[in-house]
Amino acid sequence: MAHSSLGIGIQPHEQNHATNSSTQPHSPAVESNINEEATSRLDAWIDDLQTTAEFIEALRTATLEQSNMCEKDIERLCEALSAFPEEMTDKHFIKALWCFLSMTNASQATYNRFKDACQACYPGDPFLSFDRMKHKVEMITGVVPLIHNMCIDTCAAFTGPFSSLQACPLCSEPQYYQGQETRVSNF
Ligand SMILES: [Zn+2]
Repeated sequence: MAHSSLGIGIQPHEQNHATNSSTQPHSPAVESNINEEATSRLDAWIDDLQTTAEFIEALRTATLEQSNMCEKDIERLCEALSAFPEEMTDKHFIKALWCFLSMTNASQATYNRFKDACQACYPGDPFLSFDRMKHKVEMITGVVPLIHNMCIDTCAAFTGPFSSLQACPLCSEPQYYQGQETRVSNF
C-alpha cells in the first residue's frame, strides 16, 4: 500500500467516500447532457463574439454614404459654411429658433399653437413654420435625422450586420410587413 507523506494511506475507493459526491464520476448519460449544455453555451458565446466582431467591422468601415443620409445632406456636411449664417442676425429668426429649441420635447402642434398666438398678437411679425425652421436648423448645423428600421418589440435595430435580416435576431418578429416594403418600426 502506498502511503502519503503524512503516513496516511487512502485506497481509491476510500478516497471516493472521503470527497464530495459531486466529484464522483457521472454516468455516461449525465456526462452527455453536461457536454451538450457546455457546447451549447460555448456556441452562444461564439455567436455573440461573431456578432460583436461584425458590428466592430461595420463601425470601422462605416461611410456617410451607408448612413441613410441623403446626398445633399452629405455634401452640406462636408462643406463648411463660408460665413456666419445671415439668419442669425435676424431677431424674428432668433425668436423662432429659441421657440423651436425649447420645444424639442414637445409636439409640432405645440410649436404651431405658440406661433399662432404670437402672430395673433403681432400680425406683422414673421414667424417661420415648424417645417421651415427644422430645415433651417438642419442647414445651419448639419444635424439631420437618420432613420433605421428596428424590431417592433424594440429588441434591436436592423443596422450593421442586422440590416439585411428579414426578422429580429432576438424575438424573430419580421423587419417588414409580409410581402411589403413598409417599415415595421423605425428610430
Ligand atoms: Zn425583436
